[in-house]
Amino acid sequence: MHPISYLRADSVEAAVRAVRGDPGSAFLAGGTTEVDLLRQHVRTPRRLVDVNRLPLTGIEELPDGGLRIGALARMSDTAESPTVRERFPMVAQALELGASAQLRHMTSMGGNMMQAVRCGYYRDHQAACNKREPGTGCSALLGVSRGHAVLGTSEHCIATHPSDVAVPLAALDAVIHTRTLVGERRYAFGEFFLEPGSTPDREHPLEHGELITAIEVPALPMARRSLYLKVRHRGTRSHWSPSPPRSA
Ligand SMILES: Cc1cc2nc3c(=O)[nH]c(=O)nc-3n(C[C@H](O)[C@H](O)[C@H](O)COP(=O)(O)OP(=O)(O)OC[C@H]3O[C@@H](n4cnc5c(N)ncnc54)[C@H](O)[C@@H]3O)c2cc1C
Ligand code: SF4
Repeated sequence: MHPISYLRADSVEAAVRAVRGDPGSAFLAGGTTEVDLLRQHVRTPRRLVDVNRLPLTGIEELPDGGLRIGALARMSDTAESPTVRERFPMVAQALELGASAQLRHMTSMGGNMMQAVRCGYYRDHQAACNKREPGTGCSALLGVSRGHAVLGTSEHCIATHPSDVAVPLAALDAVIHTRTLVGERRYAFGEFFLEPGSTPDREHPLEHGELITAIEVPALPMARRSLYLKVRHRGTRSHWSPSPPRSA
């Protein structure tokens, strides 16, 4: 048994203060990563600070045409937002390719950015894994490496970040907004996801207790492009259709 306590935060400040002030605390959003890892003994927080009541669920178009997605917007709400579907279709499409409908109803956009790698050795608390336990080695290097990275790897870790929606967000130069005890910070997408190098346990530049509050996507012209062809049948609404295979 691993005793654990639970706190429901009623403000952004309270959530940040609670986690920042206790190295054994972690944020809890949809719980689809955090509770999984708890059950697998991969993470052992002493306290979960529930952020689900915080007013960070908005999905809004900015005056300059950009998009602001609150960190607690669910993946499904984001994918179904008319603004996202019309103005940023590749974001909606990438979200719909991820997980399952049930999971997308639970999962938050902030949690999606912070989700853990799917490497089986990371999730097996008895296997050597530099990301989970620095200095123990990387079981995947000589073990099962299917689905692992081919670019940006190191001799210490070859896992990929598993978020589907991170791909179009990276292409669209999204910015991640956070809150700390001393104020707000912004991270360009490219500097938010750290390559493993010699410290694969450090995946983001965030300090302990730093809360993602929103993801902003600028209104680049390519934001209107789709991952698919858009087709229209006579008398029906237009809809997305997978691209036909390219001829050689
Ligand atoms: C069976 C299964 C299949 C999946 N398939 C896919 C897939 O195909 N594609 C895909 O992209 N994802 C997939 N996922 C991952 C899923 O998208 C993530 O688990 C989910 O997005 C995490 O969000 P959450 O709200 O549940 O976060 P939680 O589990 O609550 O939190 C995840 C982590 O983020 C931290 N955190 C949460 N919110 C914040 C915040 N606002 N600021 C800072 N830290 C925070 C938590 O402390 C925790 O460490 C799958 C998950 C499962 C279980
Ligand atoms: S690839 Fe990374 S996550 Fe997987 S075992 Fe190696 S160090 Fe751990």
